[in-house]
Amino acid sequence: MVFIYVQELARFLFGLKCFHFDLASIAIIEEDEQKIVVKLKGIQLEYANALRRMCLNGIPVFAVDDVVIIENSSVFADEALAHRLSMIPLKTDLSRFVEPSKCDCHSDTGCSNCRVLLMIDSGPPDTTRLVTSAELTSEDEIVKPVSDKIPIIELAPGQKLKLEAYARLGRGTEHAKWNASNVSVLTETDKEDEHILTIESSGCLEPSQIVLSGINELANRIDDFKQIIAAL
Ligand SMILES: [Zn+2]
Repeated sequence: MVFIYVQELARFLFGLKCFHFDLASIAIIEEDEQKIVVKLKGIQLEYANALRRMCLNGIPVFAVDDVVIIENSSVFADEALAHRLSMIPLKTDLSRFVEPSKCDCHSDTGCSNCRVLLMIDSGPPDTTRLVTSAELTSEDEIVKPVSDKIPIIELAPGQKLKLEAYARLGRGTEHAKWNASNVSVLTETDKEDEHILTIESSGCLEPSQIVLSGINELANRIDDFKQIIAAL
């Protein structure tokens, strides 16, 4: 099913004259929960590399972008805390959310279609303890930290942390916190026009979803480019 979808998207891409339409194919060589390796055949290096870049930082994923500190009596500065929260990878659901720039709300604060609220309310601890991403509760059932074990802050007895963190979709080209992949590498084979693309997900999206979204994004951008050229 995935392969057919890829083929259809590839067919759209390869409809351009510069592609070898009949020879193009994309096949999954290896796949697990974190990583996918695909073979791109009949695709020029320039387009294979463009796909690699899309998979790295061209696909929207969720990350914390705005933090309201209600109480922070720890020794950690608010700014450092906000930065640490923003770097926590969040599971992303692209089917229900849109990027703020494309949302009908046109609001700086966002709406339920373009942002998700996450909260921490530690309460005052009796002993020194570590607050982890497990305590970052989300209003959405899917958009939440990819792991419960990411350390956020250590609180001493009596210290307290209470905050609201607003996550939104963004792209890694704007900031690395929105990178969909930790690794996106293109390697050659001994055959001409054959490349191996290796993707390691940051955890926000399934690896196969990154490749499909990357192809989709590349197709859309090429389509936009064709329209701009046609309008000249
Ligand atoms: Zn909105």
